[in-house]
Amino acid sequence: MTSSHETFVIVGAGLAGAKAAETLREQGFEGRLVLIGDEPERPYERPPLSKDYLRGEAPAKPYVHDRSYYDDNSIELWCSTRVAGVDAGHHELLLEGDRRLGYDLLLVATGAEPRRLDVPGAELEGIHYLRTLADSERIGGLIAGGQRLVVVGSGWIGAEIAASARQKGCEVTMIERGSLPLERVLGPEVGQVYLDLHRAHGVEFLPQTTVERFEGEGSVKRVITRDGASIETEFVVVGVGVAPRTGLLERAGLRIDNGVVVDEQLKTSIPSVFAAGDVANARHPFYGRHLRVEHWDSALHQGPVAARNMLGRAEAYDRIPYFFSDQYETGMEYSGHATEWDEVVFRGDVAAREFIAFWLKDERVVAGMNMNVWDVSDPIRELIHSRRPLAPGKLADPQSPLSELLKPRRPAGTRGS
Ligand SMILES: Cc1cc2nc3c(=O)[nH]c(=O)nc-3n(C[C@H](O)[C@H](O)[C@H](O)COP(=O)(O)OP(=O)(O)OC[C@H]3O[C@@H](n4cnc5c(N)ncnc54)[C@H](O)[C@@H]3O)c2cc1C
Repeated sequence: MTSSHETFVIVGAGLAGAKAAETLREQGFEGRLVLIGDEPERPYERPPLSKDYLRGEAPAKPYVHDRSYYDDNSIELWCSTRVAGVDAGHHELLLEGDRRLGYDLLLVATGAEPRRLDVPGAELEGIHYLRTLADSERIGGLIAGGQRLVVVGSGWIGAEIAASARQKGCEVTMIERGSLPLERVLGPEVGQVYLDLHRAHGVEFLPQTTVERFEGEGSVKRVITRDGASIETEFVVVGVGVAPRTGLLERAGLRIDNGVVVDEQLKTSIPSVFAAGDVANARHPFYGRHLRVEHWDSALHQGPVAARNMLGRAEAYDRIPYFFSDQYETGMEYSGHATEWDEVVFRGDVAAREFIAFWLKDERVVAGMNMNVWDVSDPIRELIHSRRPLAPGKLADPQSPLSELLKPRRPAGTRGS
């Protein structure tokens, strides 16, 4: 039980933090509730920042709640406030300017930040990273001018920026250390689908190379690759992954290993501290190991689970990882977590980019991705959850509904009525 005299503090006013604050109030927490973020904006969602918001097509900023929501629910929202450290022994946060704030329970939802390129010329003007609304507005202003740009990295952020920039008429060169876009997550079979998609839209794709240096006077003018290519450009966007934001916890005594290590209930190694969202490396009951998932869906659902557990529940976070991406006219959803697989089975028309791909390990579906096919992610997650061995032929057959594959099988020798 909590009391109205308690103070709960959430550090990180992103999606996970905002949804946790919402849940605490919905579940009846009556104490003091402080939500602290270092950005000037109230909490917002990031997926549009590389999609419609970047292209200037979104009707409004993608805020999580209306402006009045925080006052209406007695949530103290402290924007533009950076938490410098956590003194877990004294239950205190150290704020910039030598201020301190006490807490009874703390939720760390500080997200992640882009990894920076450390090459000669990296300090030149015109080299951008995309994480915040302000970044999206800055880059959006550049792509609106139909300029020439180099995108470094072809993961989700790089691929979506390339797509948005082509849609705005920019000339785009993508540089990728591996062989194919999105290969690290999707593997070669589906990575090829994305390579074909980007090439069909006029992106120049340079595989198996990296940036050796940037050149220019004051601002970037050329990207020199490891294999000696020189690419003229007006600006660069780098998307080479993110790192969990754990700097404030350096002396807190929490277990940090690829993010804040938490158990299934999102509790850290210190009982009064929880973590959720991109920063949390959470033990996942289905996979039997820790996973740090950098997806919107995890932030959306881990925040509330952490909040309920702060109120004394013992709820495990066990959702199968899920994310989505929109590039040009193709939308996709991916469910699961495939690190190794025996084969990828396609159902549908790959050339037309309208299909479901299933990643199979030991005949079991470990991940599924639907591209321009909708309302199937629930059955895909159920297939993953079931761990049932499935014939690849059935998975590939569009006449065999996914829901049928999930139905209990009749014991051998029995006949249907
Ligand atoms: C451009 C972009 C596009 C994306 N598109 C997709 C997509 O299509 N699909 C998908 O599934 N996912 C997508 N994601 C990922 C998704 O947005 C993230 O997984 C999600 O934002 C994580 O939420 P979070 O609340 O954990 O962290 P964040 O959203 O990073 O929020 C954390 C907040 O904490 C603040 N903070 C950090 N340290 C401190 C400190 N010391 N003091 C005070 N405040 C601090 C940060 O400034 C930030 O505001 C995208 C991300 C980006 C950047």
